[in-house]
Amino acid sequence: MKIAVYPGTFDPITHGHSDIIRRGFRMFERLIVAVAPNPSKHPLFNLEERLEMVGLVTQDIPNLEVTTFDGLLVDFVHKSGAHAILRGLRAISDFEHEFQMALINRKLAESVETVFLMPSEEYSYLSSTIIKDVANHGGSLKEFVHPEVARRLQERIRSVKG
Ligand code: ADP
Repeated sequence: MKIAVYPGTFDPITHGHSDIIRRGFRMFERLIVAVAPNPSKHPLFNLEERLEMVGLVTQDIPNLEVTTFDGLLVDFVHKSGAHAILRGLRAISDFEHEFQMALINRKLAESVETVFLMPSEEYSYLSSTIIKDVANHGGSLKEFVHPEVARRLQERIRSVKG
C-alpha cells in the first residue's frame, strides 16, 4: 500500500497546504497529515487548534488521517507504515531547505523517499507567515484560507493585540 506522510507546522493551514493535500491524495492510497508541535517556531495557534483547523478544512476528503507527531519524522514515517514524505515546493526559495531535509532524512532512513509537489501557481506565493502578516494588518484573507480559518485568525490577532 502506498502511504505518505505530509508533515508541517500548519500555523494555520492555507489553500496552498490544501492544494498539496488534494494532489497528494490522488497519488497515494493513504495520506497522513502530520502536524508538528514545532515550539521553536512559536506558533500563533497551539497544536490542538492547528489539528482542528486541518481537520475542518479537509473534512470532505475521505480516509485522510490528521494527526500529530513528536521526535524524528522518519521514525513516525516508519511507525505509520509509510514509505514517502510529501512536501510542497513553492518558489526557488523553498528549495535549499527542502533539499537539505530530504537528504538528511534519506541518510537517516534509506527506504523513505521524499516526494515534492508544486501547488497551483495561484498559491505558489502563499505561506502561513505571509497570511499572518496580512491578517495582522487587517487585509482580506478570503482568497488564501478557509473562511473559518480566516475568522479564527482575525480573532486571534485581535486578542494578541489586546
Ligand atoms: P514547515 O514548518 O514544515 O515548513 P509548513 O506548514 O510551513 O511547515 O509547510 C509544510 C509543507 O507545506 C512544506 O513542504 C511547505 O513547503 C508546504 N507548503 C506550505 N505552503 C505552501 C504553498 N502555498 N504551496 C505549496 N506548498 C506549501
